Amino acid sequence: MSNIKNETEFIMKKYNIKANKSLGQNFLINDSVVEKIIESSNITKNDLIIEIGPGLGTLTKGLLEQAGKVICIELDKRMINILEDRFSLYDNFELINQDVLKVNLHELIKKEKEIGKITNAKIVANLPYYITTPIIMKLLEEELDLESITVMIQKEVADRLIAIPGEKNTGAITYSVFYYSETSKIMEVTKDSFIPQPDVTSEVIKLNIRKNKTIEVADKEFMFKIIKSAFMQRRKTLLNALVNAKVFLNKEEGINILNELSLDINIRAEKLTIDDFANIANKICN
Ligand code: SAM
Repeated sequence: MSNIKNETEFIMKKYNIKANKSLGQNFLINDSVVEKIIESSNITKNDLIIEIGPGLGTLTKGLLEQAGKVICIELDKRMINILEDRFSLYDNFELINQDVLKVNLHELIKKEKEIGKITNAKIVANLPYYITTPIIMKLLEEELDLESITVMIQKEVADRLIAIPGEKNTGAITYSVFYYSETSKIMEVTKDSFIPQPDVTSEVIKLNIRKNKTIEVADKEFMFKIIKSAFMQRRKTLLNALVNAKVFLNKEEGINILNELSLDINIRAEKLTIDDFANIANKICN
């Protein structure tokens, strides 16, 4: 019998907690998944761990034992009481009752590093699935001073995030994730590892933030605008999609640019590598 399952049921009963579906509350009850998330996060006493959505504190306990500091960001006030009761004796524990999308993570990390004990910041979370993409994009696009992001999310989204640009199962987001990080799959997690059970299979993935970018692009916002435009009309040829989106002034300019880059004029967005998109952006900017 799982210890964490017993503990979770006990806490839910004690505090009379019913999971709030609209906040993406699916509490983890599988001991080996909890262990694997903590282990794959490679936590040391020099680390600041930011846990998004700690819920009842299932991951938090292990994080507090291994990290220099743990800052939990939780939106649901009911969880705040529980987390304070459980962890206020730990001197490396801090709790923020806010929507993670509104938290200034830059400031948070900077402040902890200035104090001096912390050298790295890492994100660890079993994310609320209704806002997986905005959270991941915030963590990446704000170019936070982070070393890694270890998260559990829906398997379908996870597979898209960690796909290789130019290969199968990609979307515009694949290119953003690839630009900012090196990805790996840690494990798949079945629905029965949670109460209540989610509608979908889950997956733990790890994003190691790149210190040096692998591609050179003069205007990265423009490159990502091109990628988004191309994938919004992914059934069309890249040429037609980018003419429609007014990225290319007209078909003639598009054909010239694709020819100069030795790209087939009938190519579709999903066949392009991130270097291809960077080259297109650089050509238009020149
Ligand atoms: N970490 C716990 C676990 O593994 O059992 C709970 C994970 S549950 C999937 C997601 C958690 O995120 C919930 O506790 C929920 O209240 C919280 N949450 C939902 N939206 C949030 C937001 N915008 N900002 C911060 N936390 C949020």
